[in-house]
Amino acid sequence: MPTQIGNKWFEHKRIDDDIILIWEPYVDPLLRCNIWLVRGSKRDALIDSGLGVVSLKQAVDHLFEKHITAVATHYHLDHVGSLCDFDDRVIHALEAEQLTESDMGGGLLKSDYSEAMSEALEAVGYPLPEELISALPYKGYDLTTYTTPRTTATRTVEEGDAIEIGNRRFEVLHLPGHSPGSIGLWEKETGILFSGDAVYDGPLLDELEDSSIPDYIQTMKRLRELPVRVVHAGHDPSFGRERLIELVDKYLGCRA
Ligand SMILES: [Zn+2]
Repeated sequence: MPTQIGNKWFEHKRIDDDIILIWEPYVDPLLRCNIWLVRGSKRDALIDSGLGVVSLKQAVDHLFEKHITAVATHYHLDHVGSLCDFDDRVIHALEAEQLTESDMGGGLLKSDYSEAMSEALEAVGYPLPEELISALPYKGYDLTTYTTPRTTATRTVEEGDAIEIGNRRFEVLHLPGHSPGSIGLWEKETGILFSGDAVYDGPLLDELEDSSIPDYIQTMKRLRELPVRVVHAGHDPSFGRERLIELVDKYLGCRA
């Protein structure tokens, strides 16, 4: 078990005038999700929310100046852990029910994953350490007691719906494959795509319990045609259109 205390559970950095990236530095890469805070003129959007080991809202309260529309790109534990901290909670209609369950695809211990899952994750590039956090959020924290905080959606969305925060408007793209209700948020005016786990610059996961390779192939073909300028993804560093096309073609080369 880790003995170090991670006093500062969340790190954050400004990406541009209106976008802040927040992350959990002591979390293993498999579960270290990018949490995006986007400033709008009327309200702010929070895209994904981490594991919920520590309350995001309490830990970095100073970042939340306006009313927050919290969007989950999908229901996996590393994306929805602090969703319950916020009054407006948005997810795709296909995954609203999963938010009420405490099992959202894993835990903080290798033993929380089946042997088959652990082997599959290792094969694609995520070897699981015995513990998936390298520090404790506070003294005495017991990793074995972790469950993803349950919550409910206050709004469900589907393809073509919009998330509006005043001067910015994001179109919901339904991007299934990684999970059935995975979504991306697309801002046409700026060419910015928040892609969740549909695409990121790391090993993609298309063989989880409810993943679908045929759906993933369709999602990748769609993303290839999108006039993207920058992708802010669910994991790993952001990238531009050229890299997006490389990632898509690599995927389609293996799977299509
Ligand atoms: Zn995921």
